[in-house]
Amino acid sequence: MDGNAVNEPSFRESVDLMFNRAVQLMELPPGLEDKIRVCNSTYTVRFGVKLRGEIKTFTGYRSVHSEHMEPVKGGIRYALGVNQDEVEALAALMTYKCALVETPFGGSKGGLCIDPREYDEDELERITRRFAYELAKRDLIDPAQNVPAPDMGTGEREMAWIADQYARMNTTDINARACVTGKPPHAGGIQGRVEATGRGVQYALQEFFRHPDDVAEAGLSGSLEGKRVIVQGLGNVGYHAAKFLAEEDGAKVIAVIERDGALVDEAGLDVDAVSSWIRTHGGVKGYSTHYVEEGAPVLEHDCDILIPAALEGVINLGNADRIKAPLIIEAANGPVTAGADEILRGKGTVIIPDMYANAGGVTVSYFEWVKNLSHIRFGRMQRRQEEARHQLIVDELERISSDSSIQWTLSPDFKQKYLRGAGELELVRSGLDDTMRGAYQAMREVWRARDDVTDLRTAAYIVAIDRVAASYRAKGL
Ligand code: NAD
Repeated sequence: MDGNAVNEPSFRESVDLMFNRAVQLMELPPGLEDKIRVCNSTYTVRFGVKLRGEIKTFTGYRSVHSEHMEPVKGGIRYALGVNQDEVEALAALMTYKCALVETPFGGSKGGLCIDPREYDEDELERITRRFAYELAKRDLIDPAQNVPAPDMGTGEREMAWIADQYARMNTTDINARACVTGKPPHAGGIQGRVEATGRGVQYALQEFFRHPDDVAEAGLSGSLEGKRVIVQGLGNVGYHAAKFLAEEDGAKVIAVIERDGALVDEAGLDVDAVSSWIRTHGGVKGYSTHYVEEGAPVLEHDCDILIPAALEGVINLGNADRIKAPLIIEAANGPVTAGADEILRGKGTVIIPDMYANAGGVTVSYFEWVKNLSHIRFGRMQRRQEEARHQLIVDELERISSDSSIQWTLSPDFKQKYLRGAGELELVRSGLDDTMRGAYQAMREVWRARDDVTDLRTAAYIVAIDRVAASYRAKGL
């Protein structure tokens, strides 16, 4: 994988550069710009776990970017490349993301330097519990102060261990389950959280394609139907985004780029089949004759929509001028460096920025946190009552039809769809869709209304920074 090209700023500097571009166009009170930009604190922890007869020392981080709202929120990443700069960049993005999609949180992020594939489940549980213990005893995991979630290399399983570890340490905290989100549904999670970030990418694209002027900016037209899509990283986010776009919107996934190479097939790949191959074989190699060993150059292939959904810095000064996709949606955090962003803007590429594109995860995490605090699943009180009211209307329509001289009947699937009251999954999807539409419209208003704002990223920063600034002003800071 191409890392950042030489002479490129670090990930955190890249985020700061993008922030600076936006604040130049704003009128903030003196000093507030700095207060918002800087990361409040980063805690580094080194701890030992006895594994395979020896003590192994691990390094982890939890960074808090902004506490203008509490709790602060942000995922925990397991990857060998985790470092302070990366965690601080990701924490800053969380602040802006939460403000943009109006989830009432400050920004935070955590990470552990580890390749989870090197450990078995028992070992990972011991490592995760110890990491959680170190963070929880410093209030860096706490339902009211700091609420982690999954990120690269972690998922429901790790979140369940963290929740249990916190509960063991805080036996009388009735809200203990709200200390972390992304838990499995049977352990205090919420339906639809696993798919949420990829689902959010789908909703973001659907909303983009509802605005023909915006679609035309990217030199495209029509709907998502038949659009040729390249996805990098078929993990949680990339898999769900690709699957939903192909199955529900008629898009064609013509390439999947993974760690060990890529699959390229103009006829369209079967996302589920590729994903299960990766799970059993550890990569895409051997899946079919469409395999190519060099994955990174496939980012430069001709397509309509490029979805980087793996890691940061993959589109950089080294390859930006060769990227052909007219539309990039940043499913990963920070996949386009500040330098590459400038080159792509110059070429007229439309970029749907990370802070918006992958906000589906934190949005549904917010629903999960609310569910945990209210101790009741969404829809439990009203579902059957809603169904009964719908039944009344259907019965009445059928009575009128049987009395009337004009013969008409309800189509069978109307009855089935209309009668069913919304359960938790439907409500979560509806809340997520509403959030993604609303946030896009807020960004778009700035992008379209102001001559000095020429891209969605700058518009997103302006909306987010404005809201964080308003929150600081309200506090009297
Ligand atoms: P994941 O670990 O589930 O998936 C990452 C995928 O990328 C894996 O399939 C991995 O093999 C692949 N990959 C890793 N390195 C690669 C490389 N060099 N080239 C090609 N593929 C590579 O992680 P995820 O949770 O899907 O997260 C992916 C991105 O989305 C990250 O940037 C993360 O911060 C961001 N994100 C995730 C969530 C979430 O809810 N999980 C929310 C918001 C943002």
